[in-house]
Amino acid sequence: MRKNIGFQIGQDAVEALAKAHGTPLLILSSKQIEKNYQCLRKYLPRVRIFYAIKANPHPEILKPMIRMGASFDVASDGEIRLLNEIGVAGERLIYANPVKTGGGLKACRECGVGKMTFDSVTEIYKIKETCPESAILLRLCVDNSSAHVDLNKKFGVSPENALKLMLKAKEEGLDVAGIAFHVGSQTTSADPYLHALDLTRKIFEEAEETGLKLRILDIGGGFPIPEPSMNFNFPEMLRQINARLDEDFAGVEIWAEPGRYICGTSVNLITSVIGVTERGGQPWYFLDEGLYGTFSGVLFDQWDFRLISFKNTKERVSATFCGPSCDSLDIMFRGRITAPLEVNDILLVPACGAYTSASATTFNGFGKAEFVVWEQAKKELLPAWVIDSLTALAVNPTAMILFFGALI
Ligand SMILES: *Cc1c(COP(=O)(O)O)cnc(C)c1O
Repeated sequence: MRKNIGFQIGQDAVEALAKAHGTPLLILSSKQIEKNYQCLRKYLPRVRIFYAIKANPHPEILKPMIRMGASFDVASDGEIRLLNEIGVAGERLIYANPVKTGGGLKACRECGVGKMTFDSVTEIYKIKETCPESAILLRLCVDNSSAHVDLNKKFGVSPENALKLMLKAKEEGLDVAGIAFHVGSQTTSADPYLHALDLTRKIFEEAEETGLKLRILDIGGGFPIPEPSMNFNFPEMLRQINARLDEDFAGVEIWAEPGRYICGTSVNLITSVIGVTERGGQPWYFLDEGLYGTFSGVLFDQWDFRLISFKNTKERVSATFCGPSCDSLDIMFRGRITAPLEVNDILLVPACGAYTSASATTFNGFGKAEFVVWEQAKKELLPAWVIDSLTALAVNPTAMILFFGALI
């Protein structure tokens, strides 16, 4: 059975789109966004989904999410105001940055954002001063050395200190509503979640004993992009998490903050080879997209992107791939096995939607890659294809009969 690896366009479409729009080009499938969101809804039916927009805040990703009724995880004044400007009510946002700026808190006040996380005493005073009506969640530190990117190194209160800090916040008159954790990015097993749920369950009980009844649990993000090289069963992972939620957190409102899972598989990059050279007996391929652009995920997200070429050869070489800028840091992959490439060859990079364009820069004057929406682009491409294939058929009467025979 073919694994569901998400949206990936075929060679014909890649070539037609590159011809029509030039490269580098990002192709976004809003259908795939819908599928990913619906998958989480299906396996975690009780969970309110807050899409962590830092993974990719493109409007064509936000639109279907808004339409489907999702909520959003934001971390700055900019993200709060972006959603506010496109009409998302503050009630649908959680300000999930445990260390908030003055500008961020002001944006909360002005846009009606009343959910936030905290992990220190200083934060309690800041919230009390600017947004005292907020429902606040304690951000708990849950160690997870297996995470792809472990965010627990920077944020979170240790379980031993959790209750004390929650009681302090309560004493200051704040509405301590629950606990949030983030197991770390690209988590491919239920275990870190189950471990975090164990810790949280204990703290819920301890809190209740002191008269603090918690009502919200936020299980964070970290849900993995299902890349084919990774061998795991995502529905099974979600089933295990969901079963534990039912067992240990009945009657508690559950939230989650997926980022990469929602957008990762929904974008393809088309990039071209713009230069070829050889060093130390190995080919070097220069692409028109680099580390300062969509491939910024190599650096910031330690992500290893797949490169698909459409060269019709079995020959393979070990090559270095770099970007177009004049900085020698701008090298994405070394020792990458690939078909030999030439200038103007095209590469397709699937699963390119998370922590890619979001952290791209225009360093050295290279513009950010343009986006097209697949569901619209497809319609524009269709007439050209039909004309092409009919022309091909017209010179071949047998094929013509077969073609129209197939239509009837
Ligand atoms: C980045 C982040 C997320 C999203 O993480 P993913 O690995 O993309 O799912 C969720 N919550 C918080 C608090 C984050 O910082």
